[in-house]
Amino acid sequence: MSAGGGAGDGAVDGVAGAGGAGGAGGGGAEWFAAAGGPEGGRGLRFECTRCGNCCTGPPGVVMVSDQEARAIAARLGLSVERFSAAYTRAARGGRSLSEVESAAGFDCVFLRREAGSGRALCAIYEDRPGQCRTWPFWPSVVGTRQAWESAGRRCPGMGRGQLVPVERVRVLRDAVEI
Ligand code: SF4
Ligand code: SF4
Repeated sequence: MSAGGGAGDGAVDGVAGAGGAGGAGGGGAEWFAAAGGPEGGRGLRFECTRCGNCCTGPPGVVMVSDQEARAIAARLGLSVERFSAAYTRAARGGRSLSEVESAAGFDCVFLRREAGSGRALCAIYEDRPGQCRTWPFWPSVVGTRQAWESAGRRCPGMGRGQLVPVERVRVLRDAVEI
């Protein structure tokens, strides 16, 4: 799975990226808030298509905090210990949700594909980890225009649909260190 996260509305929204503050011509820490940004400095567009790309692909990590683990475990009716043993694995700096091999690569253990529709759902959507909630507004993705556009090649929801205002982009960006 990619490090992103989220089978869209009621399901998947996520992907990995690279970035950092850039310079002139497409970079800039807040290039999306500048007049030359894609929406004239008003924000960025994003509307998940529920393709599921961000929850599968090459091996990756979806980090889950202790608080998030408690919420997911409660949702599943499990103790935190049983949840952790069944659905997570050790990763650098903590624990990640587990992956399951599929035809698409490595699916997040909570990814569910709707039969025949081509759409994907997150089985724990309301309690999905912050990494998934904040996609695609990670610092590494919104850090530069190039990183945003690069990530958008795997995430068809980026650059389309609903306008996410600059203020909201900032809140999501500052909520994670990815
Ligand atoms: S928890 Fe849900 S949104 Fe996050 S990677 Fe897994 S399936 Fe995708
Ligand atoms: S549109 Fe983007 S966020 Fe939504 S499921 Fe596809 S890759 Fe993930």
